[in-house]
Amino acid sequence: MTILLRGGVDVSGERVDVRCDPTTGRIAAVGPDLTPAPTDALLDCFDMVILPAPAEPHAHLDKALSAAAAPNPAGDLEGAIAAWHAYRPSLTEEEILGRARAAAHELIAHGTTAIRTHVDVGPGIGLRGIAALRTLREELAEQRLAQLQIVALISPPLTGPEGEENRMLLAAALEAGADIAGGCPHLDPDPVAATACALDAAEAAGAPVDLHTDETLNPRMLAVRDLARMVVERGFVTGAVASHCVALGVQPSHVQETVARELAEAGVAVVSLPQTNLYLQARGDAVAPARGITAIRALLDAGCVVAGGGDNVRDPFNCVGRSDALETAALLVAAAHLTPEEAYELVSAGARAAMGLPAVALVPGSPAELMAVRGASLADAIARGSEHRYVIHAGRCVARTEVRGALAPLSTVPSHPVFT
Ligand SMILES: [Zn+2]
Repeated sequence: MTILLRGGVDVSGERVDVRCDPTTGRIAAVGPDLTPAPTDALLDCFDMVILPAPAEPHAHLDKALSAAAAPNPAGDLEGAIAAWHAYRPSLTEEEILGRARAAAHELIAHGTTAIRTHVDVGPGIGLRGIAALRTLREELAEQRLAQLQIVALISPPLTGPEGEENRMLLAAALEAGADIAGGCPHLDPDPVAATACALDAAEAAGAPVDLHTDETLNPRMLAVRDLARMVVERGFVTGAVASHCVALGVQPSHVQETVARELAEAGVAVVSLPQTNLYLQARGDAVAPARGITAIRALLDAGCVVAGGGDNVRDPFNCVGRSDALETAALLVAAAHLTPEEAYELVSAGARAAMGLPAVALVPGSPAELMAVRGASLADAIARGSEHRYVIHAGRCVARTEVRGALAPLSTVPSHPVFT
């Protein structure tokens, strides 16, 4: 059966129908009023916006939903790391898989059809997290629910004699099925050398790199520049992503612009993670706490690939979060001053680009990765964050949440001004 999403609007507010073909995984037809075919299963998208599906460029499925078991009363990054590292030695593969599966299903139900998750590797956890997430990756692929990418998030240190075991574990994780080399150079005694170590491991495996980068308000920490420089010097072409880049957000404008240019020229994508950074950063500052969000405007102006992600969900690093890209988009609108259209780009097209995935558009031949969500427009849909959604992955409807009973037609709601 093909699927016909009928009667929605697209991002520009135009009436649109979309036919998806599960045999090809692609969009078969797009038009303002397609005639239903005998093979069509119909999805009524009246009062809904039909969008390219979000992608999640930075999750921690191995940590998700653990807030009650590993509480972080301090609420800051150091407290979160301490709470998690005290808890993780007790984790079994089965327990990790159970939480990771539940968190992945939440993301899928909210429209996300491609997920990149960082997974802890290091003392006390070894490769158990990687094994659990590898099982989940196979499960989601077999059930054709979503695409999962696994980043081996090696614990610090990665450098010096004390980093030897971790260097071996990172290589072992990539050998054991992790897709991408990760790490936290800003937590290493030598952030520049740690960045080089991560690139070494990625090169040896022929894998991309995705690093937690400068996740601190300390303006002297700018290892992201070293990452950009090394990517160019080495001719590293398998894909480089800098996640967080909090310290870039507290630089003067001219530094932000220079670094943004360097990142654009090096082809390093930046993933902004407003939810976790707003939660963890500037905890000690009672007056005018910094927002902890990277220099998104400078990065966009420089032509960088910029993505927005949800990061931590109900774990020691963030005790809230609903696994919903529209929540991330709303935070980017309120806390980073993006327009709703820019914010949605970051959680959809930007996220897919950072993950090395092909682009999605409402045109025939595009990958059929779609979300229909209740709303009169994109801005309205972000504002509402309605659970009323249909989710299409590889041309199949993989999640369908219908809110019944209290749905007033949107035509009775005053129209919203266009945000320019
Ligand atoms: Zn993270």
